[in-house]
Amino acid sequence: MLVNAYGAHAGDQPLQPLQITRRAPGAHDVQIDIAFCGICHSDLHQVRAEWQGTQFPCVPGHEIVGRVAAVGVHVHGFRPGDLVGIGCIVDSCKHCTDCEDGLENYCDGMIGTYNFPTPDAPGWTLGGYSQQIVVHERYVLRIRHPEEQLAAVAPLLCAGITTYSPLRHWNVGPGKKVGVVGIGGLGHMGIKLAHALGAHVVAFTTSDAKREAALQLGADEVVVSRNAEEMAAHAKSFDLILNTVAAPHNLDAFLVLLKRDGTMTLVGAPATPHDSPNVFNLIMKRRTLAGSMIGGIAETQEMLDFCAEHGIVADIELVRADQINDSYERMLKGDVKYRFVIDNATLAG
Ligand code: NAP
Ligand code: ZN
Repeated sequence: MLVNAYGAHAGDQPLQPLQITRRAPGAHDVQIDIAFCGICHSDLHQVRAEWQGTQFPCVPGHEIVGRVAAVGVHVHGFRPGDLVGIGCIVDSCKHCTDCEDGLENYCDGMIGTYNFPTPDAPGWTLGGYSQQIVVHERYVLRIRHPEEQLAAVAPLLCAGITTYSPLRHWNVGPGKKVGVVGIGGLGHMGIKLAHALGAHVVAFTTSDAKREAALQLGADEVVVSRNAEEMAAHAKSFDLILNTVAAPHNLDAFLVLLKRDGTMTLVGAPATPHDSPNVFNLIMKRRTLAGSMIGGIAETQEMLDFCAEHGIVADIELVRADQINDSYERMLKGDVKYRFVIDNATLAG
């Protein structure tokens, strides 16, 4: 089945319209008409070959929402017409301890929604900047938000789960002080979710202009991280810092803000490494520097249900497919509040 998509033929070329093949749904597959797809900074890293091993043509997109078009004969959990989502995972080995623990995101055989090996043509997965996708039912998420919020639900499938999973893992809740570094797609969700979980939330930004907006998102305090005095006022006080920054930066400036036994978890994935932190900032106060990758399928469903219950969606700017390249440039300049989402109907052309 040929469908319209938007992708790139090389890392130094813009994305453009192209056609891709989707498999016919197998017995356990769900075929989805994609309504909207968020633009994650990972899409940009991958399609511009900033990370290793990008296969071309590359069709990014792993914040996918839409309606079920058809299901395989053994699919019982979904029916045509259901509102569903696909995040960053479309397959995994299904039997390792990570898969059994519902942490498919850490399975060595995890297949990402784009740029991972697959028997389907062309030999690697192609993502959500496309009209349709076919995915094994195990990796399909149910959306319980009202349909009119569907476009703003899309970013929950990556930005939402990537921030929710570490917040839950490090037991964020009432009485905890949490920092969120970088107010972009991930960061703005981190602020909303940490606030909804009941924590005291401090947003760190490099942009003075985002100060007011961060408070609106649910931050209790905002710190402009270039201001040494504002930073010093929070020394040794955080239980957890969730760092979403997409570029190498000074980690020590944040490590010293952790209290004893505090953790800073990195979710931002810059193409080039950070300078190593000063070990004394870890040794003193027994601090931890950690990482976290997206989240498992059960946890993603839990996050979607939590968001539906608390009325949480992303703050988005809806764009046409032919605005994707421009959206990338604007994302690099921090000119987005706070996630671009593609209206996939504009792929019909
Ligand atoms: P984004 O929307 O571009 O947001 C990143 C934010 O980081 C910016 O808005 C900016 O916030 C801050 N920032 C950017 N450059 C900076 C610099 N040089 N110094 C300090 N702050 C800077 O990106 P995103 O979609 O949220 O993704 C963020 C990162 O997470 C990307 O590297 C992406 O690949 C990665 N990611 C990881 C996972 C995972 O599983 N771990 C999942 C998804 C994405 P301020 O203007 O507020 O400073
Ligand atoms: Zn992503």
